[in-house]
Amino acid sequence: MRRLILSDIHGNLEALEAVMRDAQGLYDEVACCGDIVGYGASPREVIRWARTALTSVIRGNHDRAVWEPGVLDSFTPSARIAVAWCAQVLSAGDREWLRGLRAGPFWGDGFGLVHGSPDDEDAYLEYNMDVRGVDRLLRRSPCFLGHTHIQGGWKWHSGRMQQMPIPLPGEPERVVTLVADVLYLINPGSVGQPRDHDPRAAYAIWDDTGRLLTYRRVEYDIESAQRRIVDAGLPQSLATRLAVGR
Ligand code: ZN
Repeated sequence: MRRLILSDIHGNLEALEAVMRDAQGLYDEVACCGDIVGYGASPREVIRWARTALTSVIRGNHDRAVWEPGVLDSFTPSARIAVAWCAQVLSAGDREWLRGLRAGPFWGDGFGLVHGSPDDEDAYLEYNMDVRGVDRLLRRSPCFLGHTHIQGGWKWHSGRMQQMPIPLPGEPERVVTLVADVLYLINPGSVGQPRDHDPRAAYAIWDDTGRLLTYRRVEYDIESAQRRIVDAGLPQSLATRLAVGR
């Protein structure tokens, strides 16, 4: 089975379409670590795609914020504006669909999905110190996460933790063979709002037969995504950040 692993699409249709074109023929199923909406100006189109395309999916904090206003307390002002706009433009059916998304962790057949961390869907696992002890919480390996919008991850072997190698700026991909008795926590990166100083859309493919993990980056029409954000009346900063990848 080859799984396309997506996270943090955030209503960015241009980035999503570029990823799906780039990955065509390379996967059998699609999994998502949450944050389908928020920030971007195409939540309806992205949800329409998600409702049929995703075979495994968990919710992110932005998906939850659309129907649970208490979540907004931890959001930046621009994120709050984007969620309020999103809740307004979505149909009742789409809001219900978001509400029906399960919380992570999801432990699947040979893989796991979490949004933040296995024991806290809102925790940010960004630095090495953030993942201390997290290996003990992994009931499947590889386990995929999102939330930080930073492609990468960690592996644990014989009590030692190491960061995963990712594509360098300009490189389209990095392929890693995963070892059976090593624990992996893998961040495919963000499709719709990368924050690792590489503005290209990020994703991963996990082929469990060949035990190959491929991190990929793909260029997309950033200007078009930015125009939609501005035309929707959303904060300019949400458009600007797409071009710098942070
Ligand atoms: Zn996110």
